[in-house]
Amino acid sequence: MKRLLVLSLSLLALCAAAALASAPASLLTPDLALERLQRGNERFVSGKMIHPNQDAFRRTTTAKEGQKPFATILGCADSRVPLEVVFDTGVGDLFVVRVAGNVTYFDQAGTIEYGAEHLGANLLVVLGHTRCGAVTAVVKGDHVEGNIPALVANIVPPVEKVKSENPGMDAAALTNKAIEANTWQSIEDLYKQSPIMREMVKAGKVKVVGAIYDVDSGKVNWLGEHPKQQELLALTGGAK
Ligand SMILES: [Zn+2]
Repeated sequence: MKRLLVLSLSLLALCAAAALASAPASLLTPDLALERLQRGNERFVSGKMIHPNQDAFRRTTTAKEGQKPFATILGCADSRVPLEVVFDTGVGDLFVVRVAGNVTYFDQAGTIEYGAEHLGANLLVVLGHTRCGAVTAVVKGDHVEGNIPALVANIVPPVEKVKSENPGMDAAALTNKAIEANTWQSIEDLYKQSPIMREMVKAGKVKVVGAIYDVDSGKVNWLGEHPKQQELLALTGGAK
């Protein structure tokens, strides 16, 4: 009897997880969208992925009815951080922006605005990751050329800040701190240049959180909202 009860409860939990993993985006609040990503990453880490929304039906439905992604993710271009995979999601689930160093310039900000305003993605995750080459290059002061100096320009201020606040810290610890600082910087840069996102967050329509993906364990370390979010939301200026 007890075993039957445990089995029933496990089945119920499995059904609830599957329901959340494939629920229509319109039914998800920002917090439920976040929970869906958290559960998906837990499945990825434990090797129990359910690969939701990856069949032909989902493909044809989203093709005909249009996309309604439940979250936008700004992540790094690093091939070890495939966003749909690490969150165990499928077709039409995530609005994805990937650029080396997960930096925010106007084209990333514009894409994020489009996801929130036009597609209804009510959660934005800015996802840094361990062993990030772009951040590491800036920490080490590597010589870069071509278009890369312009690409990493936004990574320089957080790295300089971390260095000045942590004199004598070893390179590995400094890099990890810089990766987190760079994640916050991307959110700050977004708020600075996007009145649209500031207004949507203020109205409670969208939630913006930072997170760090560990390329060794596969686990996402959730950081929450920007520590200075209220201050950043009070900014004026940016592209209208
Ligand atoms: Zn990276």
